[in-house]
Amino acid sequence: MYTSSELIDLAETLAAPTYQPLPIVISRAKGVWVEDPDGRRYMDMLSGYSALNQGHRHPRIIRALKEQSGKVTLTSRAFHSEALSLFLQKASRYTGKSMVLPMNTGAEAVETALKAARRWGYRVKGIPENKAEIIVCEGNFHGRTLGVISFSSVAEYQEGFGPLLPGFRMIPYGDLQALEKAITPHTAAILLEPIQGEAGIRIPPEGYLRGVRDLCSNHRVLFLADEIQTGFGRTGQRFACDWENVIPDVYILGKALGGGVLPISAVAADPEILSLFQPGSHGSTFGGNPLACAVASAALDVTEDENLSLRSRNQGKYLLKRLSQLNNPAIKEIRGRGLFLGIELDRPARPYCEALLQEGLLCKDTHETVIRLAPPLIITRKELQWAAERLENVLG
Ligand code: PLP
Repeated sequence: MYTSSELIDLAETLAAPTYQPLPIVISRAKGVWVEDPDGRRYMDMLSGYSALNQGHRHPRIIRALKEQSGKVTLTSRAFHSEALSLFLQKASRYTGKSMVLPMNTGAEAVETALKAARRWGYRVKGIPENKAEIIVCEGNFHGRTLGVISFSSVAEYQEGFGPLLPGFRMIPYGDLQALEKAITPHTAAILLEPIQGEAGIRIPPEGYLRGVRDLCSNHRVLFLADEIQTGFGRTGQRFACDWENVIPDVYILGKALGGGVLPISAVAADPEILSLFQPGSHGSTFGGNPLACAVASAALDVTEDENLSLRSRNQGKYLLKRLSQLNNPAIKEIRGRGLFLGIELDRPARPYCEALLQEGLLCKDTHETVIRLAPPLIITRKELQWAAERLENVLG
């Protein structure tokens, strides 16, 4: 058996250096807990960037994985499968949208939504060919493909990767006037995160999402909501858009849709948008594969049956209240919705995450100065109290 430091050495030598992981090797996990090869236990407060809302290895999701793997795992979309049809039905019910297009990763779902929006712009709105514009927000994070990084506002994401894809217009996040000004007859859509996750849990001003909805409806512009990180109960609602009772034209979904078990993403919208794809216009070999679909169906069931939105809302309120009693001059702001919280510091957050690791709490800095707290939504009050004590030890 390899030791933790041997495993870390292997990864540091052989893996392309796209990440800078904290020095812990996870070899087992269950619920909110993970374990290193030496049997030390840690609480997971990152949840695979919110892909583990249902917790590690939820028994119902693992059962679905095992059952489906005993039947059929891959058909490609050249054929139908039972698991795909049942997943489509479940995802359509969950989102309230009458069409669903499954893909694999979040970035792929974003690309899919952008293609759908451009096509809608040409075929429905009547934008002249190749002139469609998509409005995006400063600080956005929608993934790492070449198309998606083309409209990032973070120079590091783009450096050395040009030429980039044209057709995007950047506006400040949370600014309705800027949105209204940016809309032209060529605007097909606005793409945004209802809460910006990677930018440091940035919550837009009250009424922003409603305002975006109204502007989109008034100007015939599609509202594409990237709920990849904020969906499935993470912020204390089914979707973060629900905080303002807003229904976007397109939901872009991923992460916890796969229950922390398999990658599966999806775009959900009505046929006015998604039926503009015809056979041959889009696809993916693994998109909608039966194994991922069976897992996703179970993940959706768990999300609903265990009331993860409500749990997230209640537990999040408790954690926010406890954290707001912290009295550390390095803390600039503590903010969050549900179990999606950020502690913004006036200095780098990484050393604090390293200290929290020593305390047995796995947190990840985001945007340099923010400690993101996003535990699995199944976390109990007792476990949350344990986490709060660790946070108080390091930040109190
Ligand atoms: N969109 C948002 C809001 C995200 O947070 C992420 C990942 O962090 C993505 C898209 C990209 O998802 P993936 O890493 O699965 O491609």
